[in-house]
Amino acid sequence: MNASVLPCQAAPSVDREQRFAKRVHGLRTLGLGLGFFPVAAVFRQNGEPPLLWALLLVNGFAWPHLARWLAVRSATPVQAEYRNLLVDSLMGGVWVALMRFNLLPSVALLTMLAMDKLSVGGPRLLLRGLLLQGVACALTAAANGWAFAAHTGAAVALATLPFMVLYPLAISAVMHALARQVRRQNHQLARISSTDGLSDLLNRGAWEEAVAATLQRCRHSGARASLLMIDIDGFKHINDRHGHPAGDAVIGRVGAIIRRCMRDTDRAGRYGGDEFGVLLDRADAGAAQAIAERIRASVAATVFEQAEGMHCTLSIGVAEITAQTGDARGWIKRADDALYRAKIDGRNRTAC
Ligand code: GH3
Ligand code: MG
Repeated sequence: MNASVLPCQAAPSVDREQRFAKRVHGLRTLGLGLGFFPVAAVFRQNGEPPLLWALLLVNGFAWPHLARWLAVRSATPVQAEYRNLLVDSLMGGVWVALMRFNLLPSVALLTMLAMDKLSVGGPRLLLRGLLLQGVACALTAAANGWAFAAHTGAAVALATLPFMVLYPLAISAVMHALARQVRRQNHQLARISSTDGLSDLLNRGAWEEAVAATLQRCRHSGARASLLMIDIDGFKHINDRHGHPAGDAVIGRVGAIIRRCMRDTDRAGRYGGDEFGVLLDRADAGAAQAIAERIRASVAATVFEQAEGMHCTLSIGVAEITAQTGDARGWIKRADDALYRAKIDGRNRTAC
């Protein structure tokens, strides 16, 4: 018996498959170890022969480790575990018949086995498990002369309790850990999909979304906010003279300087090529200009170690939200127009 879910159903990596096999091993060891006792209690009550006791012991305490060994050795551990899970189901059918359908342990056993199949492989695996279980149960019952004694005594009920209580708790704990892992991975994915790899700032789409959200919030609250559009001066020349990798390094470094100069509540993004945008929350044009100057001066004073004599300057356009600011595009365009003026006026400067 075991239960676990695959962290990801599509093309799992070998490493992930091995982790899956390990998790299943832990749960199978617990489930079959605890499941041993109710079956043993019924066997004791019915005076079953040593051969059946030996089979029960092997299934309860050796099979979990053999199953792990088979899964780990396999080139496809997940497929191997699916097969192992079906063996669990098959053996469940055998135990139910050998217990002469003793009600409580039989129901507990079948429920836990169904839970396993459903959580790992969904209804398909559950159906396959049930079919195998039914056939194994019928064949064993026939061989056992259709012996039937459904009444559950106190001793058997007592032996079933730990299995009924602890095993579902263990499954719930594993599910919880996996759900947390999925949440963490979703968080990472969201971060990766909104980040520009070169500058480690927001990418254009995510930054524009942030601008639109701030514009809407400021319209309602009347709060102030400003935009900076920043462009590296003569970047083509840097590329031509020092090479593209050096140009890339400049983009990364400028991104880091922008991040360092802004506050936690501000949002910076790479708008394209050598152009960046910074959204300054609760900043009027004056405050925005001061931050822009800090960024500009900081980049101008930076010595880039990628190539001898390499240095660069920035032109920056500033635009505060005004009553006339229509949408995010219009706001960005105003900052861009200011940037254009800074370029025309001679570069390495801020224009408002
Ligand atoms: P200006 O002062 O007018 O801005 O001149 P400029 O040479 O910087 O002109 P412009 O901003 O139009 O040039 C952008 C250049 O940036 C053009 C393109 O080859 C280069 N570029 C765009 N993306 C990348 C990138 O990811 N890495 C590198 N190394 N270069 C890039
Ligand atoms: Mg440029």
